[in-house]
Amino acid sequence: MKMQNIRIFETNLQKIQELCELYEYDNWDFRNFLKSGAFSKSEFFLIVKKVQSLIDCKKCSNCCKILKSTLNKKDIKRISSHLNLSEKEFMTNYLKKNKNQEFEFKKKPCIFLKKNKCTIYKVRPENCRDYPNLHKEIVPRTIQFLSNARVCPVAFNVLENAKNLIWVDDEYFNGWLE
Ligand code: SF4
Ligand code: SF4
Repeated sequence: MKMQNIRIFETNLQKIQELCELYEYDNWDFRNFLKSGAFSKSEFFLIVKKVQSLIDCKKCSNCCKILKSTLNKKDIKRISSHLNLSEKEFMTNYLKKNKNQEFEFKKKPCIFLKKNKCTIYKVRPENCRDYPNLHKEIVPRTIQFLSNARVCPVAFNVLENAKNLIWVDDEYFNGWLE
């Protein structure tokens, strides 16, 4: 796989949604391929790295608008201290418990997003830092990957490049060999 073959297919959020619907069948097939683990993880991570370097999250911020990040104890401690609030004040003002009993931001778009920028960027929650989680092992996260591809240009372009560059379609090759 050549680095120069990794490219950006689309960044427009509306078009990304439409393409994900159009490619739904293929994407589920590709998900099965990913679940098999029969691909080079280092090539997949190369795609992730290159796509991340080509997309400017500051021009997007879609995850901050449509998802509610959950926060762990360390996040709460770090952010409340940054805001000069007690943990209790911070939790009362900004957080609520979700159905899994985790703390998450009360509102979306996120209250800390101003003019498309995170105003607590340096101390932002771990989940915000990690999204869309493509630096982690992909095999157990394939459903999350497809779902993130509908809303996140990084995930969408990683998916499209991976389909193009690392997908070996057994049925296709078997057809040629018969
Ligand atoms: S992580 Fe994805 S959704 Fe979030 S700002 Fe970056 S490109 Fe946009
Ligand atoms: S804390 Fe920052 S990075 Fe996280 S959702 Fe809010 S604005 Fe986005």
